Amino acid sequence: AAAAGFSETTPKADFAKKPVLITENGTLSYQQFNERIGQYATVLSNELGLAKGDRLIARTSKSVDSLALYFATLRVGAMYIPLNPGYTKRETTHFVNDSKPKILVSCNVEADKPFQDAVKHVICENALAKSSSKASPILENESVTGADIASVCYTSGTTGLPKGAMITHGGINANAESCVEAWHFHANDVQYHVLPSYHIHGLFISLNCSLLSRSSLIWQPKFTVDNALKWLPQATSMMGVPTYFHRLIHDDRFSQDTVKNMRVFVSGSAPLSPAVWEDFKKRTGIPILERYGMTETLVSTTNPYEASKRLAGSVGPPLPGYQVRLNKDEVLEYKGPSIFKGYWNLPEKTKQDFTDDGWFITGDVARIDKSGYVYIMGRGKDMIISGGLNVYPKEVEDIMDNLEIVKESAVVAAPHSDFGEAVVAVAVKSKAGEKLSDEEFGKQLIAAVKKELANYKVPKKVFVLDEMPRNAMGKIQKKQLREDYKNLFV
Ligand code: ATP
Ligand code: MG
Repeated sequence: AAAAGFSETTPKADFAKKPVLITENGTLSYQQFNERIGQYATVLSNELGLAKGDRLIARTSKSVDSLALYFATLRVGAMYIPLNPGYTKRETTHFVNDSKPKILVSCNVEADKPFQDAVKHVICENALAKSSSKASPILENESVTGADIASVCYTSGTTGLPKGAMITHGGINANAESCVEAWHFHANDVQYHVLPSYHIHGLFISLNCSLLSRSSLIWQPKFTVDNALKWLPQATSMMGVPTYFHRLIHDDRFSQDTVKNMRVFVSGSAPLSPAVWEDFKKRTGIPILERYGMTETLVSTTNPYEASKRLAGSVGPPLPGYQVRLNKDEVLEYKGPSIFKGYWNLPEKTKQDFTDDGWFITGDVARIDKSGYVYIMGRGKDMIISGGLNVYPKEVEDIMDNLEIVKESAVVAAPHSDFGEAVVAVAVKSKAGEKLSDEEFGKQLIAAVKKELANYKVPKKVFVLDEMPRNAMGKIQKKQLREDYKNLFV
């Protein structure tokens, strides 16, 4: 809590002077940040005419200013649409055409010039930061209800074209309250924040835990091991995607000392392999708290706060007040207060993704144990049916990940003339694995799986990659892997 510079006894109501964002360039108090938001709100509403019901696309870099832009959009009652600034023109075109924003705030206005025909204002983020810095702030929020849409957040596009999930003010709020309680956030917390701010994980889940508990964030543009080693010793919490934790344990400088003030590490957005969970615990003494969520539902299940009740490989039971169940295909269904309002422009798809009795069909295949702990087995679309028998990729991946010679692995289906689909493994070698030839490495992986699992689950082939194809949220792009190996057996 040293970086935050406030004492244990700070009363909850008195947070105006407390630091909210700690950056490389200094610290902002809640009051200063609130005023910065107000300045943006003034420009958005008075100069650019943004109002309730309008949409604003932010294809911005992660900064204090872009965060102020987000809250200013909500302050005037409009819908915030964050986009990965790395999207190409082709990708951006889809989002612009789909969401029809009034304003596009861009980190690359040269590239976004073509959108000037379709969008009323295409503005450079730096220009907006400059012009708003002179404005006098609007401090009042436009009135909204819990059912009003705060954000249209596009899903990660892992299984197809990203869909715009309409997320409500009420949903965000309810989920933030549940997470603060579940993860024991309090006024003296300092969260190390390196997640991208264009995805629910960074924009809602992690951010709101700090804001709602009136505590502080170390607000950094992106995860690197060097950045983490510098700031983590001051932090009491960190949320991340599995890749971050993976990369930390592969660096010898990461030690007990780095995490001396750490209260909780939360992982989500992609499966955390039990092998990484174990290694992380061995190195730091801290069991990572894994939770599960989706853009459409926000966080829905989480491991308990109590360290001894966190289980490797599980995403825990549902949050209090939330429900999950399995359908006949073992697909997880969800009901709870943070449910989205539907997919933007896709009423048919929305209808398809809910059951007749109002449960949201997540598309993730899962198992629920006797104590109500959920285990995500993979996406329905990633399941493999080999010779008529189901193979859960995760079961095979966990065995391979556990081997000393493997850094990480993934299992996908390849069409097979005889079996329908065959199991194909791709893996990245660990340091120990690099000593082996690809052939010997593959042999050892196959032997290890054979020892533990029935024959139809054993990979027919193993491919060695230097790196897994992942997106920015650490999700393995199985769609791409399937494409790469589709002609192997046909
Ligand atoms: P799209 O819906 O466009 O295909 P996406 O599903 O990857 O993309 P997100 O909403 O960002 O988009 O991700 C939600 C998905 O991420 C979940 O459905 C689940 O498959 C996966 N996921 C999230 N957390 C976990 C976790 N802890 N363990 C396993 N999978 C997880
Ligand atoms: Mg999805």
